[in-house]
Amino acid sequence: MTTCDFCGRQESDGAATLSWTTAVENGRKRVFCDACSRENLRAMEGKLDSEFW
Ligand SMILES: [Zn+2]
Repeated sequence: MTTCDFCGRQESDGAATLSWTTAVENGRKRVFCDACSRENLRAMEGKLDSEFW
């Protein structure tokens, strides 16, 4: 069972969590579902863009 740390969505099917992403923040492992990963990716890209520009 994998739980999304962002929205709390739970998925017991391992194949369904293949598109999920994991990240380590402050030594804690964080798991994000595919939907939240997309949101985070957009936020991260937005942050990168603002730093580059
Ligand atoms: Zn989620």
